[in-house]
Amino acid sequence: MTSINWISRAESATFSVLNIIDGQRSPAKQGQVLVKNSNRTGDFIYEFGGGDQRDVEAAIAAARRAFNCGCWRDKSVHERKVILNKLADLIETNSEELALYECIDVGKPIANAQGDIALAASIIRDTAHAGDKLAGASIFDGGVHSFQLHKPLGVVGAIVGWNFPLVLAAHKVGAALITGNSLVLKPSEFTPLSAWRMAELGLEAGIPDGVFNVINGTGAIIGDAIALHDEVDMVAFTGSSATGKRLMNSAGMSNMKRLQLECGGKSPYLVFDDYDGDLEVLAADIVQTAFPNQGAVCSSSTRLLIQSKIYDEILPLIIKQTEAINPADPLLLDTTFGAIINEDHLQKVLGFHEIAVSEGATPLVPGGRVLEGTGGYYLKPALYTNVRSTSPVAREEIFGPLATIFSFESEDEAIVLANDTNFGLAAYAATSDAGRVSRLARRLNAGSIIILSSLFSTPGGVSFGVEPHKQSGLGFEGGLDGLKGYTVTSSVMAMFEG
Ligand code: NAD
Repeated sequence: MTSINWISRAESATFSVLNIIDGQRSPAKQGQVLVKNSNRTGDFIYEFGGGDQRDVEAAIAAARRAFNCGCWRDKSVHERKVILNKLADLIETNSEELALYECIDVGKPIANAQGDIALAASIIRDTAHAGDKLAGASIFDGGVHSFQLHKPLGVVGAIVGWNFPLVLAAHKVGAALITGNSLVLKPSEFTPLSAWRMAELGLEAGIPDGVFNVINGTGAIIGDAIALHDEVDMVAFTGSSATGKRLMNSAGMSNMKRLQLECGGKSPYLVFDDYDGDLEVLAADIVQTAFPNQGAVCSSSTRLLIQSKIYDEILPLIIKQTEAINPADPLLLDTTFGAIINEDHLQKVLGFHEIAVSEGATPLVPGGRVLEGTGGYYLKPALYTNVRSTSPVAREEIFGPLATIFSFESEDEAIVLANDTNFGLAAYAATSDAGRVSRLARRLNAGSIIILSSLFSTPGGVSFGVEPHKQSGLGFEGGLDGLKGYTVTSSVMAMFEG
């Protein structure tokens, strides 16, 4: 098998950004011109129209018509599942094109982008298969049949961020469509290439016109208009907590639309001295969990909390593994750490370096900008210690490759430190004490808790839907709980004679 030369493929490709409204490809209506520069070289790659209120009105009207006509909502779950499975198949068939888009837009390594496309297809498939498991309670009592009916809400507006464009969208698309809703999806203005292509593949799979619409543009114009629209019954969102709060405001100011908000994080990784596994392997896990996707993962563990007795032993391993990460061209197949999405985001991350240094923190691994000669946006990961617990470096989501290390003496102290944040998305721990596992599970404020005992297991486990805690959002993503969020329930009492 010949391996693909992704650089020449990218250089010969043309990139377009379109809206899909009522089954038609259409350019955005006027609005500002949004420009994309390559995160590998800084050069211009494409531009597109940012759209305006007319795109929003057209897309929402199309979604409402499609919902009201019953062409999707009244299909059986089985029929919807068959079509969504076809969409998953088509995503896989077109995976090279879609992976190139994700790599170009985000700056993530092409190998990881290929993994994202496979994941997006499997999310659509898994969600479609869960559709017929969403059963309500039912009881027959004294001639009355009481039952709960989970019904589609109507029009769902999905607004998603940039770090995993197709994967984040796939969660919303799968859940909204298998439950019978119509959808208006707005991808991030920084990563628009894959979303409209997915909607186009949806049409090819047999999703009726108007059921799955995509509109492009900024959050301030297009996102805000979706969030304030009275004909949108739910906003399903993945992005920052600041935007999540704005959406709560918009929902309250308009039609009290349902909200599902998957927002930011500042997750801790607790390492206890009772851990009896291989520390080299553990250090590798700590570093990978802190800096996946160039540090742009909501659940990355950017606060490392290490028990004092094990600190001196594991710290050099963590430092060595962090220093070994070398950013490289995302289009090369052996790259494992790519580019930062754009210059603004790179500068934002460097701003946290400046704060850390100005506050007297100690850089264990200085990190910082590299490969400037390429014109691209590359950052080596950084590790700081002696960071004040009140510092923005310790408290705010950086969403880039910068982590902080603290030490602790006791389990109680570790839990207080771990929970000392406004976020509650994920928490990680390494311990070989079963009692401690149970106490951590109960006391850590996080929607997703991952605990390693002495051995790393083979891939497995069942992943339930995850409910963010605190300012990491509200409502489940994934699982049957997640699907239920895309429905509204009627409690029915049907009386029978005799
Ligand atoms: P963001 O909040 O800036 O943007 C997310 C989306 O919201 C974009 O499409 C944007 O255009 C839109 N938007 C922005 N302002 C808006 C407004 N006023 N009204 C309506 N829409 C608006 O976030 P981002 O920088 O794109 O993504 C990074 C954030 O996403 C991080 O905080 C990260 O933790 C979070 N995230 C969370 C999860 C999760 O599952 N919890 C997963 C991935 C990313």
